[in-house]
This record gives sequence, C-alpha cells and structure tokens, in this order.
Amino acid sequence: MRVPYLIVLADSRAPDVVIAGGGIAAAATAIRLRALGLRVGLLVRPTAPVHGVEAIPRRALDLFDVLGEPDVATEAAAVDVDGPAHVWHGAAGRVPAPFVHVDRLALAAVLLSRAVMRGATVERVRRLPRPEDIPGNPVGVVDATGRAAAWSRPVVGRGGPVAWLFRAPPEDDMAGRVVRADDWWAYRLGHTAATWLGVVPASGPLTPAMFDTAAERLGLSPASLVAQGRRPAGVQRAAEVVSGRRIAVGDAALAHDPIAGQGIRFALGSAIAAATTLVTWAGDPTRRDIATRYYRDLVAAEDRRHLATLGRLAEADPPEPGRVPAIVKIGATVVEVPLSVDGHVALGPALRLPDGTVTRWAGTFDLLHLARITTEPTPRLLVVAQLLALGLDPPAARALVGWAVGNGVVVDAGPAPALAAGVVCELDDRCGSSTHKERFAGSGVVGAPDGKRRSGAGSPSGRQSGFLH
Ligand SMILES: Cc1cc2nc3c(=O)[nH]c(=O)nc-3n(C[C@H](O)[C@H](O)[C@H](O)COP(=O)(O)OP(=O)(O)OC[C@H]3O[C@@H](n4cnc5c(N)ncnc54)[C@H](O)[C@@H]3O)c2cc1C
Repeated sequence: MRVPYLIVLADSRAPDVVIAGGGIAAAATAIRLRALGLRVGLLVRPTAPVHGVEAIPRRALDLFDVLGEPDVATEAAAVDVDGPAHVWHGAAGRVPAPFVHVDRLALAAVLLSRAVMRGATVERVRRLPRPEDIPGNPVGVVDATGRAAAWSRPVVGRGGPVAWLFRAPPEDDMAGRVVRADDWWAYRLGHTAATWLGVVPASGPLTPAMFDTAAERLGLSPASLVAQGRRPAGVQRAAEVVSGRRIAVGDAALAHDPIAGQGIRFALGSAIAAATTLVTWAGDPTRRDIATRYYRDLVAAEDRRHLATLGRLAEADPPEPGRVPAIVKIGATVVEVPLSVDGHVALGPALRLPDGTVTRWAGTFDLLHLARITTEPTPRLLVVAQLLALGLDPPAARALVGWAVGNGVVVDAGPAPALAAGVVCELDDRCGSSTHKERFAGSGVVGAPDGKRRSGAGSPSGRQSGFLH
C-alpha cells in the first residue's frame, strides 16, 4: 500500500494517536494526551480560516487548568468582560456571569504551540489520508476537523443558518450584546483589537436591511463595519462520535448553535474526555467498551442539554423561574456508569437526572455529597449551610443548590417547617460563611471533595453558562 505522507516524530516512533485538525479541540486533545504519556501526531491542512472574537464563560477557563496550561487565554490576549446584555423576544436582560472575549484563531495558535512544546508533532498535509491508511497501527485516530468532520461522516443536521461576520474599530465598551428580530439574530463582541458583529439570518442570505438594523440595534455604525466572511452556524453532530478506533471531538462531534456560547467550552471538554478514553483504550483493553460508552454518553448528554437550551430560547415567552422549594430531597437516582477518574475511565456511581442525563461532577464538586445531604427531606437553607461546611463559598453553595433544583438533582419535598428566626438569619444572604462552618462542621456531613480534577458522564466542565442561560 502506498502511503501518501509520513509522520516524523522526534523519537522516530510512530504516534500512539493521530489527530486531524489544528484548531482548539485538536490542540487541547494533543496537550492532554501528552500529559497522560501518549505520543501524538497532528495532521494539519493549510486553510484560510475566518477570524472572529468569541465569548467564553469565565468558569470554563478551569479547563485550561485541567490541561496544565492556565495562562493560554492571557497569552492569546483574552479580555475580561461582563456577561452579555441581551434583548430576546422583546425582554432585556444580562447574563449574570463574567466572560472572556478572545480571537478563536489566536487561542488555537497558542494551544497548538503548547502542544508542540509538550512533544506533539505537526505535519502539514494537502489532503488527509483515510484513517485506515494511517501507518503504525495507532491506538486511536481523532477527528478534530471542526464542521468539516472529515473523518466522521455522515453528520446529522448539516446546513442551516449561516453567520455573516464584520469587524469595526475597537471601542471602550467590550461587553457582549445579543439582539433578536423575527427572522434574524445578531451579536456584538468587543476586544482591544476590534469590535466584531455577527448577523445570523434564520434562513437565506443577509439583506442590507437586516445588516443596517442589526448594526444600529447593537450600537455600531454600518459604515464602520468591514465584512470578514461567513461561517455555518446550525447545529450539526456526527452520526457516530466513536467508530472503531476513530473518535470525534469539538465541532466534528457536535457543533453548537453559536447563540449557546458553548462551542469552545465543549471543544476543550470533549478533548479532555476523548484523551481519557484513548488512554484507557491504550492502557487497559478490558475497559475499552466502558471507555467508549463514557465518551458516547458524554456527547449524547451535551447534545440533549444543548437542544433543551435551544428549545427554551425558541419559546416566545420564556418560562418564569420556578418557585424555589423550602424543603428539598434528592430527585436523581444513583447509578453505576463509566467515569473519568484521574485520566482513566472506570465504573463508579453517578446521578441519573429525571431527564435521563447522567452526571457526577459539577466543576470539581462531587454531586454525591449533595445526594447524601438530601437523602432525607432537608431545609434548603440547611443544604446550603452543609455545602459551606464542605468548603464552598456562599455564592457557589447557593448557585449549586439553584442549579440542582433547576435540573431535578433535588426536588421539592413539601412545605417548610417553622425554623427558629435566628437560624434563618444565619443562613440567608447576609451571613458570613465562618458562622456556618462553625455551626455545621461537626454535623456528620461527608468530608470535603479531594480537589482532584474529575469529570463524569455529563458535562466535563460542570455547569453551563452561555450567552443566554
Ligand atoms: C459565528 C460563530 C460564532 C461563534 N461564537 C462562539 C462563542 O462566542 N463562544 C463559543 O464558545 N463558541 C462560539 N462558536 C463555536 C466555536 O467557534 C467552535 O465551537 C470552536 O471553534 C470549535 O473548535 P474545533 O477545534 O472543534 O473546530 P475548528 O475551530 O473549526 O477547527 C477545525 C480545524 O480543523 C482543520 N481542518 C478542517 N478540515 C480539515 C481537513 N480536511 N484536514 C485537516 N485539517 C482540517 C481546520 O483548518 C481547523 O484547524 C461560534 C461559532 C460560529 C460559527
């Protein structure tokens, strides 16, 4: 068989894993695989990619810590901004979470240079080989070619809306803004280098009227904007995210609608999870099926969550926030599933939520602690207090309980019993955490999380916080 290219490695041995692509998902997979001890070769095709500033929820930057590269966003000139302001179905609001804005190609370039520094090799190819033609019998091949999904056809949902991108001079106000009309939506994202506008018609081409209205509603002069290109913006997913030794990551596995603001987080999270899967394939063939299931479940859970988010955004009248129950109990069931523990996949307990999603970790917080705290009906404020005793700060503890209620991890367990006034005072928003720790430290709650980075089936970065959720 004639092999049309050759991967040359510093130590001249064939790579354990060959990755197609040179974007964020490809580079992150390479970095994680190198950290876990595998040899990696990347196949990169020269292209003329479209630049663009993108928004990342600040807490998703934790994933750079997992990669051992905490400063990449800074090196890529990311800027800190408030959450985006939005006018959606006529209602105005602002996402109450900090974000960073970064040029996605600058971020990819920094990550790729870090992958090379860690020993990954990069070969430029005019055409990708077929996975089955790759020499050296690698443990796995990774499709990180974005929406091209060059090794992961067929894909479901190809086509759909297209984003038209424009650039204007930088402005002091860099926070994101999102607006919606009947037949388009648009966003503005600022950076020290430029202000970016994206307009996404629901279907068909961008009309001059849409462009002018979008620019004006986002506070930009149409005359200041220069066209930069177009990018597909519909939801797309690989029909098979894992097939044989081929595994898809980032947009090649599941390309999000940009309104969700989750693409980069998923590119990083899926890269880390795919590396875990590949390392398990390489190190323990008896766990191959578990590892494969872990990755498939993870992408399927992300897909379900993403579609649910888009469904909520499509509703003309977003549902009122639900009543926050005073007494809660566990609403999820404990099941045994493949989990990522310190870079390998193993079976372990996790929570199955009422919508079928299986998850174990919210960021670095082990949700089994929450399950134990709420085995019996428990006042919500007491749950918050017990989370404080586990080391969470008050905003994080309240946010975790709010998320757990919103996602059915815990459910309403009935009317509130009368609590002594002093207890309520101590547990409400005005109280400091030290009182809680003193009061509840000896309450028999399980010990604090061990701080090791883990990800279960479900979201590898824990909670989501996109443009509008
Ligand atoms: C308009 C728009 C706005 C967005 N805004 C946001 C946002 O604000 N926040 C956010 O988190 N996400 C956003 N996203 C999503 C985000 O850009 C993607 O999810 C992310 O870039 C995916 O990274 P990736 O590495 O998987 O794919 P890509 O970045 O597409 O990288 C794919 C790589 O594969 C290479 N490649 C392609 N074909 C081949 C081939 N045949 N052979 C070899 N190499 C190949 C490409 O050159 C590239 O290097 C947005 C997307 C769009 C379309």
